[in-house]
Amino acid sequence: MQYDVIIGLEVHAELKTKSKCFCSCKNEYGSSPNSNCCPVCVGLPGALPVLNKYAVEQTIKAGLALGFEINPIAIFERKNYFYPDLAKAYQISQLEKPICVNGHLKVFDKNIPINRIHLEEDAGKLVHSGNETFVDYNRGGVPLIELVTDALKEPHIETADEAIEFLTKLRQIYIYSGVADCELEKGQMRADVNISLRPKGSNRFGTKVEMKNLMGFRSIHSAIEYEIARQKEILDDGGKIEQETRKWDFEKGESYTMRTKENAEDYRYFPDPDLLAVKISADDIERIKKSLPPLPEQIKNKYMQEYGLSEYDTDVLLADKSIADFYEQCITVYPQPKSVANWFTTEILARIKGGAGLGIDKKNLVWLIKAVDEKKIQRLTAKEFLADIWGKDYDAEAEAKKRGIMADLSSDFVFNILDKVMAEKQAVVEQFKREKDEKILNFLVGQVMKETRGKANAQEVMEKLKEKLIQGE
Ligand code: ADP
Ligand code: MG
Ligand code: ZN
Repeated sequence: MQYDVIIGLEVHAELKTKSKCFCSCKNEYGSSPNSNCCPVCVGLPGALPVLNKYAVEQTIKAGLALGFEINPIAIFERKNYFYPDLAKAYQISQLEKPICVNGHLKVFDKNIPINRIHLEEDAGKLVHSGNETFVDYNRGGVPLIELVTDALKEPHIETADEAIEFLTKLRQIYIYSGVADCELEKGQMRADVNISLRPKGSNRFGTKVEMKNLMGFRSIHSAIEYEIARQKEILDDGGKIEQETRKWDFEKGESYTMRTKENAEDYRYFPDPDLLAVKISADDIERIKKSLPPLPEQIKNKYMQEYGLSEYDTDVLLADKSIADFYEQCITVYPQPKSVANWFTTEILARIKGGAGLGIDKKNLVWLIKAVDEKKIQRLTAKEFLADIWGKDYDAEAEAKKRGIMADLSSDFVFNILDKVMAEKQAVVEQFKREKDEKILNFLVGQVMKETRGKANAQEVMEKLKEKLIQGE
């Protein structure tokens, strides 16, 4: 049987703020356990939350970057449940009146509808060690935005590839707008995936299964493909899909039942009496809109239209904001976007991806690229030189001069070599004069290049040689 697949995503991202959402504790990853805690974020009786205004602004910013409407009044509610990572036994979240509603994100050629983005607090972290489990409340109370796609509206996310593209683009928008770092290995971005199948062409929705707290895009991709196959098999056998929450075991590459599904009612949401409704004025929205930095889509247009880069090169540059920022800095000093991009998409990225980190500064890199463009250094020589000075504290220009790798055709160095080669290969020179054969000329150029150890420019050597040989007639 053929099925249509429908995928709904709930994506959590930790906001980049100095302090937590409802207290002044530090929002910091990697501090020693339970060092960033206070009576508010561990929920001691009588402690009162105070809303972090900046966290609200960051949420609005995320919404504006994705074309959301901003609710003029947003309300915080208590989501009640007991789990050891949640000291208060309720999470401050939003249900009826979230900050952002009705957004979209373009994924390939589909404009995927998004229901909402709301602001809530993150829970603490359980740390398992042997037979013991520890709890670290540093993350408890960290501002978290949750985005929920509207899987019941068309167009739907239908494949693992589309889901990953959605998450990749969303992550990029969050990073470029400055609201979140979304470092996956730090768990700063996590997704729940909801999947249902229905017979092809049917307009009734199938029962959805939710997979919780997936981290890392590769796991998410595998988990989606696994779940689609699992449901297909059940339906093909005439079975029924249980509404449930499953947990993905990335080591085994399979999922298992965590719990049969709870409903929103089970959480007994109600407006938090400790927090006032948040009023968001049109002026606030306007001001925040103005503070939005250029977003990936805008930068992409600029790179392709103004800089003349290919779509492929553009995507490669934009994939990592720190690379794109460095690229921009380089071309403000040396406005040759194509030439600079060439170095970035090859040498620079290869080195960084190899784990070497960014090992060159703007001044040195721009000097080197310019020297190659001006034919002062052979491209190949420059690449080797770059590898050599990467991560070291050299001044590129001084070092290149010291090593004698700069070619200068007017220099005695190259002239001497030309003369030397012509003297040594007298018979070949005579043969060229008789036959005027390009191959012979190429041979002589090769000899010169060899003698200069590749420091000269072959094209120019060829011209100089021709000049000399014709002059000599
Ligand atoms: P829950 O309360 O179980 O978390 P929500 O209504 O919040 O459920 O929906 C969670 C996500 O699942 C949303 O992205 C929603 O659009 C999506 N979703 C809802 N119904 C289906 C379905 N039948 N198939 C796939 N996704 C669905
Ligand atoms: Mg949910
Ligand atoms: Zn605190």
